[in-house]
Amino acid sequence: MTKKTIQTDTVIIGGGISGIAAAIDLLDANKKVVILERDLPEKFGGLAKESFGGMFFINSPQQKFSKIKDSVDQAKKDWFSFAEFDEKEVWGKKWANEYLESTHMVYEWVRSKKVNFFPVVHWVERGLEHQGNSVPRFHMVWGTGHGLIEALINHLKSHPNYKNLQILFQHKAEDFKMENGKITEVSGLNEKDNTTFICQAENFIVATGGINGSMKKVREHWHKEWNSPPKIILNGSHQYSDGLIHDKVNDMGGNITNLDLMWNYAAGIPHPYPKRENHGLSLVPPKSALWLNYKGERMGPTPLVTSYDTRYLVTKICEQEKQYSWQILNKKIAYKELGVSGSEFNDGIKNKNIFSFLFSVLKGNKILINALEKDSPNYIVADSIEELVKKMNALTGTNDVSLEAIQKSIDSYDSNFDNGNNIEDDEQIKLIMKARKYTGDKKRTLKPQKFDTKKNYPLIAIREFILSRKSLGGIQTNLNSQVLGIANKNGEQQVFDNLYAVGEAAGFGGGGSHGKRTLEGTFLTTCIFTAQKAANHIIGK
Ligand SMILES: Cc1cc2nc3c(=O)[nH]c(=O)nc-3n(C[C@H](O)[C@H](O)[C@H](O)COP(=O)(O)OP(=O)(O)OC[C@H]3O[C@@H](n4cnc5c(N)ncnc54)[C@H](O)[C@@H]3O)c2cc1C
Repeated sequence: MTKKTIQTDTVIIGGGISGIAAAIDLLDANKKVVILERDLPEKFGGLAKESFGGMFFINSPQQKFSKIKDSVDQAKKDWFSFAEFDEKEVWGKKWANEYLESTHMVYEWVRSKKVNFFPVVHWVERGLEHQGNSVPRFHMVWGTGHGLIEALINHLKSHPNYKNLQILFQHKAEDFKMENGKITEVSGLNEKDNTTFICQAENFIVATGGINGSMKKVREHWHKEWNSPPKIILNGSHQYSDGLIHDKVNDMGGNITNLDLMWNYAAGIPHPYPKRENHGLSLVPPKSALWLNYKGERMGPTPLVTSYDTRYLVTKICEQEKQYSWQILNKKIAYKELGVSGSEFNDGIKNKNIFSFLFSVLKGNKILINALEKDSPNYIVADSIEELVKKMNALTGTNDVSLEAIQKSIDSYDSNFDNGNNIEDDEQIKLIMKARKYTGDKKRTLKPQKFDTKKNYPLIAIREFILSRKSLGGIQTNLNSQVLGIANKNGEQQVFDNLYAVGEAAGFGGGGSHGKRTLEGTFLTTCIFTAQKAANHIIGK
């Protein structure tokens, strides 16, 4: 049977935010573009559509409005300290520098596509041992990632050159053909009708996302500083982020780097309404909850508190014999602080409804709490500590959690509030107080108070797993987003002239522009930035 053959100027493999951004810039230059997207039309936009929509910018109007003093130099210090780059890393560092000097361009690009931001900037990943964000930089898209993608798709559809774009859904790219050092075609399977296709073009852009949707790949590349991979790892990534195209690029001599560097989360629960196999939901864990090991003991030496250093949280949980954890909280804490990362369950901001958004900030995320209470077995509610412990053990089918351990954990926290004691002697309370100094966090974080107070009952325990999310490594690229070859014995690397990699597929630039840690909100922005670079090079800008 003859294969269907498609011809165009540029083929983009993957219709996530990086693929869409590249397509927009190529259409601006009147190029003909084909997007091959394995997923269904309603999923166009990839992970960005499910994302929270936080974007990292420096010196933004929102920061200036809130009198936050920031600078490129300061951001570079924070980024490089947090990244803890390997000293041999070259391209990741170059990309980090390049992006940090250009965040205003990404900001202007999204604003020109009618994307708006919530005025209060969030302050995440402040750092513990390693300096993180020294000022707030996480800008929330009004409408979350869902609104961001909606704006970009609207922009695409109303583009004067829209006729130059062909989007082929349910088209899985599977292999490349290379002749005389140049890629000439990509072939694959139309999964809708099980027919094969070939797409020939001048240029090829890989925008297929990372590898973190494949638990096999995640386990294979598990970071050595994280012990062995946990028995349960939830999938918080794309089901088609399976690394197939990474492997094909590698087979052609392309260099793949830093795959062990992943940005995984510590507070995952099985999604109550899963849309893919092993689908996990990443909770924004309350700072005032007690984060306990699998036995119900407080963890340390620095207690586990969100928004300081996500990598530290994952490291501590993975150090244990059983690599999951518990958070215990009460109803008051849940209503004030429990959240979820993503566009789902955040209806107020997703639907751009200011009243419903402010209501959820002030009164709690009822949609989320109701869903968890009703449909998540990992969310346990109890009227006494005894009942809580019984239910925790029933869930795991073990006797790992003892009443004494939970009581001791609660007492060690609550005793800080006894007469004569200084609450700031407790490291967790210190971190809560530090966060509350920023108005944006004060609204979402309870003033430190005794945990075991009947008026704040019922008690809640949440069993939390490691959730696989983002690949910080990937296909190595130069600053034009062109793929680089595996170095020969003299250390020289071939440049693949007409093969580009962008977004998460390229480890957000250079095969690892974040090093070991990210300041957050840096994924969506670097996806756009790497795509801009590829498009600019193709059109000779
Ligand atoms: C819940 C959630 C919240 C997040 N929140 C934030 C946030 O607030 N801020 C932030 O910066 N980042 C956030 N992220 C991360 C961010 O959304 C992603 O890193 C980013 O969207 C990746 O975009 P991408 O285009 O590189 O890849 P993807 O979005 O993964 O898109 C890749 C596309 O390629 C397709 N594909 C894969 N293989 C093939 C193939 N062989 N053939 C054809 N098509 C293929 C896939 O179907 C997919 O549509 C979040 C992610 C999630 C899941």
